[in-house]
Amino acid sequence: MKAQTINLDKYTACEGCDLLLPIVESPPGHSTVCPRCSTTISRRSTHSIVKTLALSATGLLLYLPSTWLPLMSIESFGFSESANIIDSMINFYTSGYYFVSLMVLISALILPLVLLSLIFTVSLHLRLKRYPLYLTRLFRIYIKLEEWAMVEVYLLGIMITIIKMMGHSEIHYHMGMLCFILLVITSLAITTVVDKDFFWRTMERGEAGEKGRRPDFEIMEGDDSVTAAEKRIQLCHICHKLSPFSDAVCPRCGDTLHRRKPMSVSRTWALVVSSALFFIPANLMPIMQVDFLGMPDRSTILDGIIYFLHTGSYGIGLIIFIASILVPVFKIVGLTILLLSTHPRSVRFLKQKTAMFRFISFIGRWSMLDIFVIALLTVLVDFGFFSSIHTAPAATYFCFVVAFTMLAAISFDPRIMWDKYTPLSKDKDHD
Ligand SMILES: [Zn+2]
Ligand SMILES: [Zn+2]
Repeated sequence: MKAQTINLDKYTACEGCDLLLPIVESPPGHSTVCPRCSTTISRRSTHSIVKTLALSATGLLLYLPSTWLPLMSIESFGFSESANIIDSMINFYTSGYYFVSLMVLISALILPLVLLSLIFTVSLHLRLKRYPLYLTRLFRIYIKLEEWAMVEVYLLGIMITIIKMMGHSEIHYHMGMLCFILLVITSLAITTVVDKDFFWRTMERGEAGEKGRRPDFEIMEGDDSVTAAEKRIQLCHICHKLSPFSDAVCPRCGDTLHRRKPMSVSRTWALVVSSALFFIPANLMPIMQVDFLGMPDRSTILDGIIYFLHTGSYGIGLIIFIASILVPVFKIVGLTILLLSTHPRSVRFLKQKTAMFRFISFIGRWSMLDIFVIALLTVLVDFGFFSSIHTAPAATYFCFVVAFTMLAAISFDPRIMWDKYTPLSKDKDHD
């Protein structure tokens, strides 16, 4: 074996399997994919900074009207009730469902604003070619929080609520609804135009200039090692820059570096087991209570689905079944399979398992759907003695399931499965 040097700034590693890869400048609009596990390495987008700036400014303008103005109102028994996201949240809070209220507050109200403000500030600075030190920290927070904002899930919740109420009462739409739909479209567009790699590289160049170039890193050539870890290199989770094992902090984004996510397997196990336990009361206990002329009628998630199937709304029944039952079950079972494959020397179907991990991370947030539907119904259907809808205990357990399965997917490190395939050289510590 002979020693050779590589420039770490010209290489990257796959997040899914740790394969060491040279950075290729793919044409705009194209993405690079890992040849070993098919995880997306980078996605190029044209005029990323200007587009992000324009979209986030639009999003910020839409934010206030879409959260404070009423979305819609319904008329029944001669009463009229209107709803927006703030009413729903207050309603959960006053009925004692603090955790549900907190989840709705964070995912539908606070984070969309925080994310829009962060990405607006970052893209504005990049556009003005100003690189203050806090810029990397802001973008780092943006990347860490991104997954927890769920405006599009909330929009689907609104649509289901409308279909649910259509037969029973007259629905009126307000300006808030139009603003909210535009806000969701803007938020989705931002996620497709932000070219994270390009943002990081622009910040790095602006901040440090040529001084920031690190000395070439010495690697061993000639063996059949392929992963970054085998060459004693680690990938930053946030900005995907490579650094030698000896570095504790990423030179580009300032995040703490780890060879593998810390305590990944035990943390993920703990979260998966807790999710599985909470999933039982979430389904056995009632999640919603409908009072009609003083008669309470409590229903579980499954009762709700059966109701839709009975009334002929097969599409909605199916969507709620997928979001509330299938997705959590798939996440719990899927993560258990992934966790089991980190224990024995299981090197089969690694590519398929990595794809399953990507799918689990992607679908996580959609389970909040039923909670959003209930959030809207409790506010909209409040006609005193005649008819009202209330939250029931399963809602809290269900929110735990959503939060814990999402955290489990975040704490799982798919590269540990691949380490069995290409064992790490001598030192086996995974932090
Ligand atoms: Zn890979
Ligand atoms: Zn970094």
